[in-house]
Parts: sequence; structure tokens; C-alpha cells
Amino acid sequence: MIKKHIAILGATGSIGTQVLDVVREHPDRFEVQVLTASSNSALLIEQALEFCPEVVVIADERHYHLVKGALSHTPTQVLTGVAALEEVVQYDTVDLVVSALVGSVGLRPTVAAIKAGKDVALANKETLVVAGQLVMDLVQEHGIRLLPVDSEHSAIFQCIEGEQQNAIEKIYLTASGGPFRGQSAAYLATVSSEAALQHPNWVMGAKITIDSATLMNKGLEVIEAKWLFGLQTRQIDVIVHPQSIIHSLVQFADGSIKAQLGLPDMKLPIQYALTYPERVPNRLKRFSFTDFPELTFEKPDTVTFRNLALAYRALEIGGNMPCVLNAANEVVVAAFLKGKVGFLQMSDVIEEVMGIAPRIASPTMDDCMQTDQRSREVATGLVAKFNKKVYHIAK
Ligand code: NAD
Ligand code: MG
Repeated sequence: MIKKHIAILGATGSIGTQVLDVVREHPDRFEVQVLTASSNSALLIEQALEFCPEVVVIADERHYHLVKGALSHTPTQVLTGVAALEEVVQYDTVDLVVSALVGSVGLRPTVAAIKAGKDVALANKETLVVAGQLVMDLVQEHGIRLLPVDSEHSAIFQCIEGEQQNAIEKIYLTASGGPFRGQSAAYLATVSSEAALQHPNWVMGAKITIDSATLMNKGLEVIEAKWLFGLQTRQIDVIVHPQSIIHSLVQFADGSIKAQLGLPDMKLPIQYALTYPERVPNRLKRFSFTDFPELTFEKPDTVTFRNLALAYRALEIGGNMPCVLNAANEVVVAAFLKGKVGFLQMSDVIEEVMGIAPRIASPTMDDCMQTDQRSREVATGLVAKFNKKVYHIAK
């Protein structure tokens, strides 16, 4: 069997480590060429020693000498700096790039991979939120496959397989509702980041776990779905499904609905993206209907969880507004994790940044980068103001 040669951006993260679990289970199918990490040098070294890639990137330069030293007796090349991420995805030896960085930092290396003609397995949803139109244009231009890793989008992708002639009427993205489903605004005002990090069904990186608690994750996924599947905003609905068994659904022109089901385990959508169009046997736990006698559905509460409404608004406004939303969100989530803003204040800051940001109807890549940068600065300023307010009240 010809092996697929893969590059993993964000190898030490929640998605990255599960990609390596899939590779470990199918050593006959994959060869790891590139591994990258931000600053977790210990895990990157361990992974490099196990998978013997051609090159690793430790983005944080302070860890370069440690990684270089630990791998000096191996043939693995060691690079550092975020710019190197754009270089390594272009290596001739790479067939498929797994884009699993967190945040808008994923945009440039993902774009570099597409421009180099590599297929991309996309976990980094922020790439499509920041520059959806531009990225999809590049996918067309370079004729590459953009394979969704996000479980909802993988579900939609699986449902439309073989339906190329048939129009999608609408899609339903399912949402677990997160740890605070059903709670009031008064309660949410008091919640800590520790409580928000306790997701009922999935174990994920910190940023997406907070995004799941605020429903921003679903908002970002609505935007991601629009671009991946070429839909109008009104064709995308969100339905809360606390059991996380149905991963999403597609309704076709005749009213028929197809769904994709399974236990919540990211290794399944990851494997499908890596082996597409083939389905390959594995040892993942199988779903049992009698373990889940009830699958329930409810409307999302977008009055209490305003981020989902803000994401729809950003999509309606279009242009660079989803990029503004994303940048402000990245800043407030980081601040919330450090205890610098409250749960509900996250939405306040995002809304305020969206109100101030200059609008660009058809942004270029440079416009997206500048919008991202500028919105971060504005959001950071607002967070500092909130921080002071909290401080004064406390005094
Ligand atoms: P994570 O925080 O666990 O891992 C992020 C990875 O990116 C790490 O390897 C880290 O070293 C690297 N990284 C972070 N910042 C970087 C920087 N500035 N420069 C270079 N490298 C950097 O995140 P995750 O949960 O694995 O999520 C990754 C992406 O996949 C996100 O976009 C997320 O929304 C998406 N996603 C994740 C899951 C999940 O189950 N974790 C599910 C669906 C989608
Ligand atoms: Mg998802």
C-alpha cells in the first residue's frame, strides 16, 4: 500500500495527539513527515522520537535549543518560529496537511499548504471564519481537497457523499449545549473558568472548551459550514442535542433528512478525513442504541448565550465582520481563562468590538490580517477597562 505522507500542525494539541493515535493504529497507511508545536517541547520530542519525521517545528524560539539538542542524534531537522510553519507544509514529501492549530494563527500555514497544492484536513475552523471566501477561492484555484475534521462538518460531509447532483435545502448543526445548558444569566455571571472547562461530552483544548460553554463554538461552526458547503446563512440551523450522538444532519430538496451518528470520539472524523474516500476498520468503541434510549433536541437559548446570535449577525453583515468576531473572541477567551473578565462580559466585549470595527465588504488577505490585529487591540483595551471596573467594585 502506498503510504500517505502527512504534516501535522499543532501535533501536541487535543486534535494533534488524536491524529497520532489514528496513525499509530494504521502504521501501514501513514508516514508522519512534519510535526509542529508551540511550546510543549517535551511532548514534541517524544513524538519525534516515536514517529521519526523529516522535520519538526517548535514555534516558540525559547524552546529551540532544547528540542534541537534532544533530536541531534536523529535525522529529524528542527526549525523554529511561526514563519517556519508556512515553509514545512510545502515540502515535496508531504501529501496531506492536518491543520490543527488553535486560533487565527492557523490561517497563514493553511493557506500556504493550499497554495502548494496539498490536501488539507481542517480542524482549525478559525481559518474559515477569518477568511472564508478567500480560502475557498484558493481551494478552487489549486484544486485541492479541503476535508473537514470538525465532527459536525464531517457529519455533513458524510451525508452529502454521493449526493453531488442534489441540492441541500438546509443543514442542522447539533450542539451539546455545553456545561451551562439551561442556566440563567444570573448564574452565568458567577461562573469560573474551571467550571466552564468541564465539558459534558468531549475532552478538548481549553479555547474550544470555553467556546462550547458560551456557544461561540457553534457560531464559528455556522460560519465554517457556510464556506465549506457553499450555503446561505438561512440554510444553517442549530439544534441542541445534549447526548452528542447525532453529529449533524442534512435536509435535501425533497424533505428527506440524512444524519450521521456515533459515539462522541474525534478519532472517527479524524480518521475519515485521513483515509477519505475510503472507510477503514478500527477498534473504536461502537454505539449501542440501548445505552441511549433517549435522544433529545431543543432550541438553543441565544438570549442567554448571546455569542451564537452575534456569530449569525457577523455572518449577515459579512465581509470582514466574522474576522472581527473571531479576533475579539480569542482575546476574551484568553482573558476569561486568566480570570480577567466574567463569562457574560465576553459577549459584551465582542459586541462592542463589532460595533466599532471599520467594515470591509470584500477583504483581501492583508485586510483580514489587519482586521484580526486591530480587533485584538481594541478587544484587549476593552478587557483592561472591564478589569478596572471589577477592581473598583472589589475595593
Ligand atoms: P489545543 O489547544 O489542544 O492544541 C493546539 C495546538 O496548536 C497545540 O499543538 C499548540 O502547540 C499549537 N499552537 C497553539 N498556538 C500556537 C501558535 N501561536 N503557534 C504555533 N502553534 C500553536 O487545541 P485543539 O483543541 O486541538 O484545537 C485545535 C483546532 O481544532 C481548533 O481550531 C479547534 O476549534 C478545532 N477543533 C478541536 C476539537 C477537539 O476535540 N479538540 C474538535 C473540533 C475542532
Ligand atoms: Mg465541532
